[in-house]
Amino acid sequence: MIPWALLLLGACADSTRNAPAVPDLPPTARADLVRMLAEDRAAVRHPSDGGGSARLVEGTPAVAGRTGTWTLSYTTGPLGIAEGGMLFLQVSPFWGWSSPQVQDPLGAGFTEVSTTASGVVLEPEGLGTQLLAVRVRGRALEEGEAVGFRYGAGPAGALADRYAEGASRFWFGVDGDGDGVRALLPDAPSVAVAPGPAAGILATLPSTARPGEEVRLAVAVLDGQGNAGVRFEGTLALDADPALEVPSEIRIGPADGGTAWVSARVSGEGTARVRVSGPGGLAGLSNPILISAAVPRVLWGDPHGHGDLSDGTGRPADWYRYAQDVAALDFAALTEHDHWGPWPLDTRPDLWAEIQAAARAAHEPGRFVTFVGYEWTSWIHGHRHVLFPGDGGTMFSSLSEATDTPAELVEALRPLGAVAIPHHPAGGPVAVDASETWDPEVVPVVEVASVHGSSEADDVPGAIYDAVPGRWVRELVASGTAPGFVGGGDGHDGHPGLAQLAGGRGGVTAVLDADLTREGILSAFRTHRVYATNGPRIVLFTTLDGHPMGSLVAVSGEAVLRIFALGTTDLDAVDVVRSGTVTPLDAGRQAVFEGTVPLTGFEPGETVYVRVRQVDGGMAWSSPFRIAP
Ligand SMILES: [Zn+2]
Ligand SMILES: [Zn+2]
Repeated sequence: MIPWALLLLGACADSTRNAPAVPDLPPTARADLVRMLAEDRAAVRHPSDGGGSARLVEGTPAVAGRTGTWTLSYTTGPLGIAEGGMLFLQVSPFWGWSSPQVQDPLGAGFTEVSTTASGVVLEPEGLGTQLLAVRVRGRALEEGEAVGFRYGAGPAGALADRYAEGASRFWFGVDGDGDGVRALLPDAPSVAVAPGPAAGILATLPSTARPGEEVRLAVAVLDGQGNAGVRFEGTLALDADPALEVPSEIRIGPADGGTAWVSARVSGEGTARVRVSGPGGLAGLSNPILISAAVPRVLWGDPHGHGDLSDGTGRPADWYRYAQDVAALDFAALTEHDHWGPWPLDTRPDLWAEIQAAARAAHEPGRFVTFVGYEWTSWIHGHRHVLFPGDGGTMFSSLSEATDTPAELVEALRPLGAVAIPHHPAGGPVAVDASETWDPEVVPVVEVASVHGSSEADDVPGAIYDAVPGRWVRELVASGTAPGFVGGGDGHDGHPGLAQLAGGRGGVTAVLDADLTREGILSAFRTHRVYATNGPRIVLFTTLDGHPMGSLVAVSGEAVLRIFALGTTDLDAVDVVRSGTVTPLDAGRQAVFEGTVPLTGFEPGETVYVRVRQVDGGMAWSSPFRIAP
């Protein structure tokens, strides 16, 4: 996540050095970054900074993960670029574009930089991490003079992003007067990055259904990176377990982008999966559906992700389309950073309006629910993503003096009915600091799993990197503060709900027995009728003395914990975590677990939750029960 700050900000990177020692902050707090962001915000831009225009002259059609050559031309504006001024080419830092470089003609990303302006000497230098800087020497570049870039000019070409998107940008920055402060050109040329060839089939069923119901199976033909929109046309064969009736085949046409919704009828009880197969060995196996009149209904969502308005890939509308039609989520929220990316969104009401409009346009209560949201990206107190209950919201910035602490954020959000969700609380880019209030209305849940790993505890694979001792969620819950548990992808690759496709780690939220409306889902967050997984659609139900997951339970004497888990593959472990102590149960190496655990000797304020681990590393965490005082 660091490149944006170092490369696209106008202020020079020197300010990252000599970070002041700030007392009482978590050891991972990044006061240096905050100082740099504040300096950048305060930096005075010369009128020539960010001047001129750029265009893509010609280029190979970009295909995810393949190489090509692209020719770009920059033309100065009325104020030109002074001698000693700088021009920067920044190819999109996500996720695979070669860094433009000038030192190795045989290497990937080799870039020829040229000008026809006589007397001008260009001094290009590759700065790594997708940034090329060009100093203007000899004389100033006058209005209308051009600089050409041939990116990928060598035999190795330049590697394109491995994630498909409609418009991957070539950013240009100009320090017109040479004082070390630059600004981005308002318009950046872009190329569409097409997906690679079909490599697999994703098939997704709802996790629960009632006997006799009609349900919908989502089918998506994806490339090797999980990109949708592959060029696929043909017939797929479907085969379901006996409790489900599906058509024996479906046809995907050239305009379908490799996706289809298929009606299926529930004809029995128990569990069922669907196998989908196609030409060339394409195959996919759906998640299991649990058919019963008596179980809570499960909805799935990804309430945390990023697109190209901050530091990810893809436009907001594409992000929501993938969430709905590929990941087959029931709800989702694009939560761009308030101040992290090419544009500081907290100063761009036009882009914030675009995000809100995209959420409104995709919102279809009863079918697919979206939230207007953003990420309060404090490098001091840790990150929270914010979800608003209505069609609009206010972006309270983590850099604004009025809302730069968790307590101030909570009080700003409270009258709006919004929630703030602390994420990667135990570490990752920055841990959540000890000043979090865990307000039951505004901060009812914590994100325990995302693309960064799990913050629940350190005793399982996939635990978060750069962990801060004392900040694990298990320790928080053992202390008696027990928010509900949610997962969020925190994906930056345009694949909401499926962040784990990129490297095994992801996060999704299951909501139990809620209306598929914004109110219904936020209410489930506030009552803790939620659980988290690191990506797979694992079914997990718990009750304590008959009370639903996440309840505050008054217990006298013995209480019975009931657990039902249905994995997407065999279960390796089912753990009961009581007030910080883990008791493993025998999961029996099968996909279904049912258990009844008598628990005695509860003290007021104790907590109990259940953790499930599959043989493939997939995990689920139930929200904790709390024992009433
Ligand atoms: Zn974050
Ligand atoms: Zn995030």
